[in-house]
Amino acid sequence: MKGQQTPAGDLRLVDLTKRFGVFTAVDDLTLTIPQGSFFALLGASGCGKTTTLRMIAGLEQPTSGQVLLGEQDIAGLRPYKRPVNTVFQSYALFPHLDIHENVAFGLRRRGIRKVSDQVEQMLALVQLEGYGRRRPAQLSGGQQQRVALARALINHPQVLLLDEPLGALDLKLRRQMQIELKRIQTEVGITFVHVTHDQEEAMTMADTVAVMNAGRIEQLGAPADIYEYPATAFVANFLGQSNLLAAEAGGRAADDVLVTAHGSRFSVPAGRARLTDGPAFLGVRPEKLHLVDDPDRVPAGHQHVGGVVSDASYVGVSTQYLVRTAWGSELTAFAANSGLGGQLAVGTAVTAHWDPRHAFLLPRAAGED
Ligand code: ATP
Repeated sequence: MKGQQTPAGDLRLVDLTKRFGVFTAVDDLTLTIPQGSFFALLGASGCGKTTTLRMIAGLEQPTSGQVLLGEQDIAGLRPYKRPVNTVFQSYALFPHLDIHENVAFGLRRRGIRKVSDQVEQMLALVQLEGYGRRRPAQLSGGQQQRVALARALINHPQVLLLDEPLGALDLKLRRQMQIELKRIQTEVGITFVHVTHDQEEAMTMADTVAVMNAGRIEQLGAPADIYEYPATAFVANFLGQSNLLAAEAGGRAADDVLVTAHGSRFSVPAGRARLTDGPAFLGVRPEKLHLVDDPDRVPAGHQHVGGVVSDASYVGVSTQYLVRTAWGSELTAFAANSGLGGQLAVGTAVTAHWDPRHAFLLPRAAGED
């Protein structure tokens, strides 16, 4: 499949803005999506992801800014003139046409008569060989979504836009399709831009995730990077759970930034601190926070805080503990379940400890705590 498309180039959004009246839905967005990458736009409902996608597709005119594909500014092109196609959550298949004809639609529209080989190739790509003569209503939701994908890919677009394409599927099927979409993207090698509000979905599939908030990109990076070292409290909270302690950063000592939280001194390696002075959040992910009921078992070099287990919820692979600290805040810790017991009961006095190399330090804005 690779090599069948004409060379595209990176997709670049430059100072892209969309206003609806006085409301700014997309606010001066500048980003580069490398050719052939799987890119996810992740954000809560209303943050501007769909509007961004619609401007790339040509379904929405930017108020200002550019949409560049390679060196070409495509912002002025009509949607069907763009080497871009979109897969929607609603599949949008033609109910009166069989699967073969649904997939062939884009070729027929271009006046191509001999379509069977290409349709078969597309159905094989999405693992639906032999389904060509069925009608959409005779397929499951997941299968219909595969047909929509085959139909969108048959004209070899240079960019495929996916707008919450798995939103209508149940959780198990969605997980299967995430793996499947990743395989298909690797196989066809074209740029995928995927819009979702589901952080796990974005992180499972994408090479690069852009976290959007109120029309702007809060952070952009590889999934592991943005999870392990979030840039803002919004990103830390949006991507999984976080323990964020309101703190004050107070200078450096050797390779560490010094931090005070609730009268206790901590440190964070400078490479994981986004500031050295001023209001901050000290962050530790729940799976990096460990609990012991004997303070002597805290490993050397770990930082720690005392507390009492206020809740223990068994969730299969792990137990989620809530720990009320001496200063009144609540910390969350995930402990992997070995199946050999060792659970901590509610009411147990514990020491929560972490390796400072797993902590991170973020700026704290006025009003955030
Ligand atoms: P969702 O996940 O709910 O689709 P989203 O992040 O994709 O959300 P958008 O659909 O891009 O968000 O909408 C961004 C903001 O722009 C929202 O506040 C929405 O109400 C507003 N908006 C979108 N389209 C229009 C329009 N045609 N007229 C006025 N406001 C609009």
